[in-house]
Amino acid sequence: MMSVEEPGLLIVGASLAGLTCAQSLRAEGYTKKITLIGAEKHLPYNRPPLSKQVLSGKWNAAQTNIDSAEKFTELELDFLIDDEAIELNVGLQEITTKKHTLKYEELIIATGASVRRLPGTESMNRVHVLRTIDDALGLREALVGIKSAVVVGAGVLGSEVISALSEYGIHATVIDRMDAPQLPLTGGHFASRVNKFFLEHGVVTKYGVEIVSVSEKESGITIDLSDGSKVSGEVAVVAIGCIPNVDWLANSGLDISNGVLCDSNGLAAPHIYAVGDVARWHNPVTGKSLRLENQTSAIEQGLAVGKFIATGQSSAPTHPFFWSEIFGNKILMLGSLDAQIPLTIVHGSPSDNRFVAATIREGITTGIVGWNMPREFRQSRSMMEA
Ligand SMILES: Cc1cc2nc3c(=O)[nH]c(=O)nc-3n(C[C@H](O)[C@H](O)[C@H](O)COP(=O)(O)OP(=O)(O)OC[C@H]3O[C@@H](n4cnc5c(N)ncnc54)[C@H](O)[C@@H]3O)c2cc1C
Repeated sequence: MMSVEEPGLLIVGASLAGLTCAQSLRAEGYTKKITLIGAEKHLPYNRPPLSKQVLSGKWNAAQTNIDSAEKFTELELDFLIDDEAIELNVGLQEITTKKHTLKYEELIIATGASVRRLPGTESMNRVHVLRTIDDALGLREALVGIKSAVVVGAGVLGSEVISALSEYGIHATVIDRMDAPQLPLTGGHFASRVNKFFLEHGVVTKYGVEIVSVSEKESGITIDLSDGSKVSGEVAVVAIGCIPNVDWLANSGLDISNGVLCDSNGLAAPHIYAVGDVARWHNPVTGKSLRLENQTSAIEQGLAVGKFIATGQSSAPTHPFFWSEIFGNKILMLGSLDAQIPLTIVHGSPSDNRFVAATIREGITTGIVGWNMPREFRQSRSMMEA
């Protein structure tokens, strides 16, 4: 099928977006060598269950695997895991990793994002972050037998962590510099709904505050806040967003401001593509370039680039999509709700906590959300296409 000498295609980042691209290339008939380089020690796994099934103890690590090693062999995918790209030389079509120097014909950048940490807490054992399977297992272990925790960040990840803490009966305090919880793409429409869940589950909320200092003792973590108060817990979980992994591209000449800038086919430069959380794709419909951090975009971009390289065909642009599960509520979000426009209820009723809602601007649906109504949400997706 392939000669040993050919440099073939290199994918840097052996996770969802990179793997999906490799699978798409093979499905579309690409026969050259494909090598995936991954900084983690693990073969590709899904991250969404980390803050849900894994953290709450329902799944073990193996259940997050995307596919088996046998399947990867069948597809003739070579993995160099536990290695990290440190430099890209565009002129030489070459990358340098900690262990190798590798040539490429085509390069896929799929290095995702890393968690933002609270400065000064990096070496604190009781301060956790959640991005990798190792983070999730470490945090799960740290929750055993404790009674209290502080969660920094009331975004979707922080809300999922709080939800898991409540399943363990752990008393949570949440801190955020914003005035309310935030779910991505929802235009703030559900801030008070999520906050109500927090309060119903006994969560102490501290909004609109900055962190002044964090200190660690054997008994736990204490955080001093800008309003003069202190909060403490036996552990703290920091969920304050992510930063795209572009440091290794610093000397490449690519535009890496807020991710790798790409056209609508994922092309960043000749023979170089980017997919997933690290990529900022141009959307020809909105005219904007957007970096999205969700599973569906990682899959769609991986599929699109695989098809484009193998066949030269572009894929149609899609709407951003994310889902979450918070205190047992299944939330599905397509497009982006407009903060300025009241919700139109399409199915169900917010008072029953089961509904499909949309924002419609000048006859155009900008976003649609399904709240505990997955079937009706799927039926209503066509509103976005229209
Ligand atoms: C806890 C958690 C819960 C989530 N829940 C949801 C959800 O409910 N719904 C949803 O839509 N999305 C969710 N997401 C987001 C989703 O998981 C990501 O959008 C998706 O993982 C992005 O895939 P990716 O392959 O682009 O990047 P990543 O999954 O971040 O993978 C990038 C890989 O590249 C590796 N890497 C980085 N730098 C280098 C380098 N220099 N050399 C080699 N390898 C490198 C990294 O180690 C990593 O393995 C969640 C994410 C997390 C962390």
